[in-house]
Amino acid sequence: SLTDVGRHLGRMVTQPQCMIQKEQQLLVPGDGGRMRLRSSTKPVVLVLGSGWGAHSLIKVIDTDMYDVVVVSPRNHFVFTPMLPSTAVGTVEFRSLLEPVRTSNPCVTYLEAECDNLDPNTKVATCTSSFAYEDGRRPQFEIQYDKAVVAVGEQPATFGVPGVREHCFFMKEVTDAVALRKRIAEKFELACLPGTSEEERRAALHFVVVGGGPTGVEFAGTLSDFLREDLRKKYPALMKYVKVSLLQSVSSILTQFDERLQRNALETLSRSGVEVRTGVRVVGVTRAKVQLQGGEELDYGVCLWSAGNAPRPLVKQIASLVPDQAMATESSRIPPGSKLCVDSFLRVVGATDILALGDCSLVLRNRLPATAQVAGQQGAYLAHLINSGYNLGVGGYTQPPPYQVVKRDRLQTATDHSAFLRWLATALAGGKDRIAMGAKVSDALFRMDAPPWIRVHSEALTHAPPLDRPSRATVCDLAAVSAATAAAGGADPAAVSRAVAACMRSVAEEEEAERQAAEAMEVRYWDRPFEFLNLGIMAYVGSEKALTQVEAFDVVHLKFTGALAFALWKSVYITKQVSFRNRVLILFDWMKARVFGRDISLF
Ligand code: FAD
Repeated sequence: SLTDVGRHLGRMVTQPQCMIQKEQQLLVPGDGGRMRLRSSTKPVVLVLGSGWGAHSLIKVIDTDMYDVVVVSPRNHFVFTPMLPSTAVGTVEFRSLLEPVRTSNPCVTYLEAECDNLDPNTKVATCTSSFAYEDGRRPQFEIQYDKAVVAVGEQPATFGVPGVREHCFFMKEVTDAVALRKRIAEKFELACLPGTSEEERRAALHFVVVGGGPTGVEFAGTLSDFLREDLRKKYPALMKYVKVSLLQSVSSILTQFDERLQRNALETLSRSGVEVRTGVRVVGVTRAKVQLQGGEELDYGVCLWSAGNAPRPLVKQIASLVPDQAMATESSRIPPGSKLCVDSFLRVVGATDILALGDCSLVLRNRLPATAQVAGQQGAYLAHLINSGYNLGVGGYTQPPPYQVVKRDRLQTATDHSAFLRWLATALAGGKDRIAMGAKVSDALFRMDAPPWIRVHSEALTHAPPLDRPSRATVCDLAAVSAATAAAGGADPAAVSRAVAACMRSVAEEEEAERQAAEAMEVRYWDRPFEFLNLGIMAYVGSEKALTQVEAFDVVHLKFTGALAFALWKSVYITKQVSFRNRVLILFDWMKARVFGRDISLF
């Protein structure tokens, strides 16, 4: 937005001042070995990660208001959609990167991994990516006021033996570097005089596991590279070269429309990629990819892009926040697989922890794990934090204690008294509000429960959805109980009227909070995160791509072929995070077209 441009320009002018401040604010050991920012008088925002979510946040966050500390094992941002292009030399690695310190020179960056985040003490424990001479890796703790978790996900192996040891992944630049090196090595090996026909065939069999955008883009890009460049360099080897794409379900690129899926299949097949659907890999050895049913494929290079799994940090945080187990269960995902957040990206059940991007799941609004979502969430969160949100500046913002009712508990509770006992304990334990999904309250209502429980469930059934536990989604149990008792619990109509009267209207409550916030001179931010879907695209090889744009329920545009490729190129060039990256990529594209791709590596 124009405000952001203004902020960036302002930052360029005030940079020297911000650098002076930063020098004064180096991390120093504090009480109990914890690091603290020297002379810090501002609240500390700790950002974990330097990917799509974190990067867009640190570009916008106001460093005049906050001390922003970024902890990530990667000192740069990577434009992931173009990683497959770097693995074959169409684009150079450095053209996709932006160092964190360039993204925002006013943040404090520490190259380390966060191992542990304690939501109760607000302390993050981190281990450096580097070791001292004696092999010791420095560890430190950071006391934060607000933590933003944007650690993404890691490749999932689904427990398939041999994947971690023998396959390549496509997540980081280091993965693309290793892959590019291995492709070059396999061609050189196949060239050697002593190499047999079988060994050549095996060495030049490139297997891609996973028919999602990453697998398809890599298979398409690799086949371009083989046809356009390596054919000239190794003409005698071309008869041994094969690219196989293995997909466990019956189609590829399942997030696209069926017509586009078919188009991708045809384009890949025409480019010489053998696409096999309904094929499950059950093991990978040094020389063979083993398929379910006993078939074995000799291979030279295997790229594994079959999905993502949570990072250990996400599991660790989720394990310390009891409500996360219930929230993940109600979202039907395994516990600890994502951090469940409300529509303001607050981690459900935790105070002062926000999460965004691939590692998070917005309750009631399941968004795809894409760069688009993470980038928009990062910018949204930066504005939210810049508006003075819940960082010791007061205002509305502190979610009241609440409890999510666990569905299991209802389904397994044969006598309702067990459930009532639990409810009573929850209320006695200071939880004066109960948040309940519609399914739970439906079930409760259908049960032959005592009248007062039925009344609660009726009230809750009509409450707005469970995404803003602080207000709209809860009803005040104490008030409902009192009203029920007052109505005598006998006449259902009277009870319903009493309940309706004691349930405060959401609009009223919000207005009261708005006024309270204004009275405290806190800038008020009351817009939950909304994702603006700009469409999806994928390159499928032979200078062809797929583009699907669906917006506001009225725009349904689908392009394939060269037109979609032109769109793909123009979108990726405009979406680059800096002018420098834009120039470098345009230059790389030109260089590859004129001189061909170069994969020589040292
Ligand atoms: P990431 O970008 O993965 O960033 C996570 C960050 O956290 C990294 O910097 C990592 O080093 C850091 N980190 C990890 N562990 C820790 C820790 N313990 N402590 C601190 N930091 C940690 N999406 C699209 O929308 N369009 C595309 O075309 C597209 N193509 C893709 C192609 C490829 C090859 C890949 C891999 C992904 C692609 N995606 C695409 C998906 C997109 O990249 C992700 O959705 C996006 O990166 C998610 O952003 P994030 O900020 O959640 O996580």
